[in-house]
Amino acid sequence: ERRDPNQTEFLEAIDNFFKTLTPVLEKHPEYIEANIVGRLTEPERIIQFRVPWVDDQGKVQVNRGFRVQFSAAIGPYKGGLRFHPTVNLSIIKFLGFEQTFKNSLTGLPIGGGKGGSDFDPKGKSDGEVMRFTQSFMTELQKHIGPDLDVPAGDIGVGAREIGFLYGQYRRLKGYQAGILTGKGLSYGGSLARTEATGFGLLYYTKALLEAQGDELKGKKIKISGAGNVATYAIQKATELGATVVTASDSNGFVYDPNGIDYTVVKQIKEVERGRISDYAKRVATATYQEGSVWDFDVDYDIALPCATQNEIDGGRAARLAQNGAKVVACGANMPCTPEAVEVFKKNSVLLGPAKAANAGGVAVSALEMSQNSERLSWTFEEVDNRLKDIMKNIFEESAAAAEEYGLGADYLAGSNIAGFNKVADAMMAQGVI
Ligand code: NDP
Repeated sequence: ERRDPNQTEFLEAIDNFFKTLTPVLEKHPEYIEANIVGRLTEPERIIQFRVPWVDDQGKVQVNRGFRVQFSAAIGPYKGGLRFHPTVNLSIIKFLGFEQTFKNSLTGLPIGGGKGGSDFDPKGKSDGEVMRFTQSFMTELQKHIGPDLDVPAGDIGVGAREIGFLYGQYRRLKGYQAGILTGKGLSYGGSLARTEATGFGLLYYTKALLEAQGDELKGKKIKISGAGNVATYAIQKATELGATVVTASDSNGFVYDPNGIDYTVVKQIKEVERGRISDYAKRVATATYQEGSVWDFDVDYDIALPCATQNEIDGGRAARLAQNGAKVVACGANMPCTPEAVEVFKKNSVLLGPAKAANAGGVAVSALEMSQNSERLSWTFEEVDNRLKDIMKNIFEESAAAAEEYGLGADYLAGSNIAGFNKVADAMMAQGVI
C-alpha cells in the first residue's frame, strides 16, 4: 500500500488472499520470519515497454506493453497475455499474483506471470493486429523462453494473435515451439486445449459432489456464457448425465428444460459467430429472454458461472440459494463478488473457487509444454485423462488443506492455502532470493 497506493485491483487481490491465510501464518511463524508475504507481494520482475506500430492510415500509434514475472519459485513464469484497453500495471500484477497460486495448485512445475497491452483489437484490421503483435513480440522476445517464461492467450489474444506472436518470435530467434502455449495444432499446439477449461470445470465439480456423498448424474445445472468455457462445460455436463438448462451471452439467455444441446451452441458460436438468441429460433423447446440468467427463477442444483467477472452479486447469490442451488463452481475468473461469497456461506452453498475450478486450461497448457519438450504429440484421450486426474487432485488438495485448518468445506480458503503452501515451501528451501 505504501509503495503503490493507486494499484487498487492488486491491493484488493492480495488483501482478499492473505485474509484466508491467517491460520497458516499463525501455525508457521517461520513464514513470517522469512517475510514470505512481503516477498510474495513484490513481483520478481516487471517489464514495461513501448509498442509502436503503423495503422492502416499510415499513422504511427503507440501502446504500452507489460510482462509481470511474478514468481518462478516452482517453475518458469507462466500466464496469459491480455490485449484490452483497460489493461494497466495494477491489473496485470493482480492477475500474475493469482496465477502463481493457480499454477501451483495444478501440481505441475509452473510459476506465475501475466502480461499484455492496452491495445484494443476491436475494430482493427488483420493487418493492424499483425503489425501491433509483431512490434509487441519484438520487445517481449528478449524476456521469454521455454525454461524462463511461457506466455499464452487471454482476453483479446486468441488463435490469430498467438499465431502472429509465434511467427514473429520464430523469425527473430528461430524455431522454439515451447515459447508460447495455446498454439495451433499444426505448429505445436496440444489436443484438448480448447476443451480443457470447460471439461476441467466438470471434473472438478464431479469430485466436489462425490466428496459430499453425492453425484453429478441427474443434476440440473444453470450455466452462464456461451463462449469457450461455457460451450465445453455444457458438453461435458451432458456427457456425465446432468441436464444444463441455460446458456447466455451479454444480451440475454436461453432456457431449455430438456437440456441445452451443445452441438447447436457450437454451431452458432464457433461456426456462425451468431448470438445465443439464435438457439431459440432453432430448438422448439427453448425460450429466449433478454437480461441476466441469474435474475431468472427456476429450480436447479448447480450454478456454473462461465461468462465474466462479478456476474453474481449479493442479491443474485440470495436468489440462487432460494432456487435451491447447493453448489457454485466458477468457470469464469472472479464471477462472484465478495458479498455473494458471504451469502453462499450463510446459506451453506458450497463454492468451488476459480483458482481451482477453472485451472484445467493452464494445466493443459503445461502439458503442451511437456509435449513440446518431448517433441511428441499426445492423443486426445491421453491429455483428457491427465486433465481428469489433475482436477481431482486439485479438489482433494484444497479439501485436505481446508480440513487441516478446521475450515470444513471452505474450498476457497482451502485452495488458497494449498496453492500458497507449495510456493512458500519452495521459497523457504531456496533461501532469501
Ligand atoms: P469467451 O469470450 O469465449 O466467452 C465469454 C462469454 O461470456 C460470451 O458468451 C460472452 O457473451 C459472455 N459475456 C461476456 N461479458 C458478459 C457480461 N458482461 N454479461 C453476460 N455475459 C457476458 O471467453 P471464455 O469462455 O474463454 O472465458 C470466460 C471466462 O472464463 C473469463 O472470465 C475467462 O477469464 C475465464 N477463463 C477462461 C479460460 C479459457 O481457457 N478460455 C481459462 C480460465 C478462465 P458476448 O458474446 O455477448 O460477449
